[in-house]
Amino acid sequence: MKISPLGSTGIRVSKLCFGTLTMGPFQADLTPVQGAALFERAFEYGVNFIDTAEIYETYAHVREALRIKPDAVVCTKSYSYDAASAEASFAKAVKGIGREYIDVFLLHEQESAHTIRGHAEAIEYFLRMKERGYIGAFGLSTHYIGCVNATLKHSEIQVVFPLINKRGIGIADGTAGEMLSAIRAVHQLGKGTIAMKALGGGHLITERESALDYILALDCIDAIAIGMQSIDEVEYDCIRFSGGVPDAALAERLGVVKRRLCIQSWCQGCGICAAACRNHAISMVDGKAVCDHTRCALCGYCARLCPEFNIKII
Ligand code: SF4
Ligand code: SF4
Repeated sequence: MKISPLGSTGIRVSKLCFGTLTMGPFQADLTPVQGAALFERAFEYGVNFIDTAEIYETYAHVREALRIKPDAVVCTKSYSYDAASAEASFAKAVKGIGREYIDVFLLHEQESAHTIRGHAEAIEYFLRMKERGYIGAFGLSTHYIGCVNATLKHSEIQVVFPLINKRGIGIADGTAGEMLSAIRAVHQLGKGTIAMKALGGGHLITERESALDYILALDCIDAIAIGMQSIDEVEYDCIRFSGGVPDAALAERLGVVKRRLCIQSWCQGCGICAAACRNHAISMVDGKAVCDHTRCALCGYCARLCPEFNIKII
């Protein structure tokens, strides 16, 4: 698989970035050892890039991956907003993955120029760690076109991790075309770009082929993070990203997989999940949580917060 520069960061990554949200406790709930078997197969195809986040709870999985491939490039993210929370997040990440440095550290789910300003203390901390060599590149992830555009004025933000897919599913403030224009602009400035939710957080799983055709054709994207939770998914994506054509039996096996958020009927109506969903996909109807599947990006964050363990992605 092709290895290319991540913008002008000096870091070189495979086009396919192994996303770990789907193997973690919010989705497939694989053990770290089970996860390692998937990483191992991806590494055999030349994948060298792993995406995680503090909230995914997959640092132990990444640690296993690094036992197999110690030089893999690791990207993580946190919601830190001040120096103390940034220091705690960095410490948790290096301890969790078992390595003293992080290749790419991002602020998670930023929304606008305003939220970037609000995280100034955390940004200062991460940039200090970068100067000392403990972080390779700093940046942010976002579902917002406005936030991608806001990074144009921040030279310290070297990597942008935006949401983009062929239908624009999950983009908070516009269309796929508008997001693409914003990504092109930041990429031209030399920022590294990593696409998230190319499969619409699972909504485009049955259209995997055309969804990958779309994202692979974009020359302003350095890497594409895709969550994989089975050997079949790893095989399919690695073959596609290597320029091959997966066999029909493999494509057919994956074609039947379509994930969906399920809220059990014994919901107590506390509203915690609705308040936590940044896509406004959950509303309270007659005292129970109801999901609008057209808005749900299947991130699983609400499931983690439900005190009754009512929410699952299956
Ligand atoms: S409903 Fe839950 S899984 Fe869906 S986007 Fe909102 S937080 Fe994520
Ligand atoms: S957090 Fe759980 S119990 Fe509360 S409204 Fe949501 S699904 Fe119901």
